[in-house]
Amino acid sequence: MSLELKGITKSFGSFVANDAIDLKVSNGEILAILGENGAGKSTLMNVVYGLLKADSGQILIDGKEVSINSPADALKVGIGMVHQHFMLVPVFTVAENIVLGHEESKRGVLTLAEAKEKIKKIADEFKFEIDPDALIEELPVGVQQRAEIIRALMYDAKVLILDEPTAVLTPQETDELLNMMRVLKSKGTSIIFITHKLREVKEVADQIVVIRRGKVVGNTSPTASQEELASLMVGHEVDLIPDRSEANLGSNVLSVRDLNVFDTSGRRIINNLSLEIRSGEILAIAGVQGNGQSELTRALLNLEDHVTGSVKLGSNEILGISVNQTLHSLSLIHI
Ligand code: ADP
Ligand code: MG
Repeated sequence: MSLELKGITKSFGSFVANDAIDLKVSNGEILAILGENGAGKSTLMNVVYGLLKADSGQILIDGKEVSINSPADALKVGIGMVHQHFMLVPVFTVAENIVLGHEESKRGVLTLAEAKEKIKKIADEFKFEIDPDALIEELPVGVQQRAEIIRALMYDAKVLILDEPTAVLTPQETDELLNMMRVLKSKGTSIIFITHKLREVKEVADQIVVIRRGKVVGNTSPTASQEELASLMVGHEVDLIPDRSEANLGSNVLSVRDLNVFDTSGRRIINNLSLEIRSGEILAIAGVQGNGQSELTRALLNLEDHVTGSVKLGSNEILGISVNQTLHSLSLIHI
């Protein structure tokens, strides 16, 4: 199945998020849409999936214009989507989630036994491993994503939209997903793969469309160099090997000792974390999304409620003071 967009325009008030976008993905092709945060990628995909209504433009399936006003319409014409944030119910099993989605799509009721049977068939066909009886909340993120993909395939999706699927994955899970994409492609599924990671694009894409500020600014192939892709994405020359000067380190400005952050249900999100930053130093925190990075920054600003440990700015303990006082202390020390 081929999917073509012609002149898709979508504004939010006076802000044009998608400006006359044209693109086409052919049968069994992986089209990567590359663009910085805020470029308009999710907006475009939400239009294709019927979650947003375009102001103008056309969506064509196999050359014929279709009208898509809801996800149910999208599924009916063979378009499935896996969102940036999963739509699964954590306390349900894989099969139960699929039964639930089926009812929502108004395709009639599916029994649990039928759902399990179908999951097994798809898992066999595409060589995906999944346990239909596993509780979603107990599955690693990569497997939850697999359940979402299977759900889309159960509706016979011929075009699968994956919106930043690798943002939540470990490098190993990313490689597994890229392999799944290759299998899907070999069976004739077309994939629209949204990302801003150049390595992934170069590894699996057949065609690359680059979007910047709501406009298509490039249509290229995976043979393009990472520098070319990065420049297209940001709109100016990019040197991927940065010029580094030696750090000129001063005294300790921030010391975090044995920091624990708990969520409202008492679950430990940050576990005895300690770190120190000296003046003139850049400290990078690397990790897959959802591993406590946001909670850490929120805790340092005293925006989290359930925190233990110590956070010292210079020699002053700041844990537990008000947000206002925190911002004031931070501004004094120029962090
Ligand atoms: P991307 O997925 O490429 O990161 P988005 O499509 O999510 O970008 O967003 C593109 C731009 O449109 C952003 O500037 C965003 O703030 C804006 N935007 C997205 N959705 C809405 C909305 N519902 N209302 C207003 N602005 C929006
Ligand atoms: Mg997005």
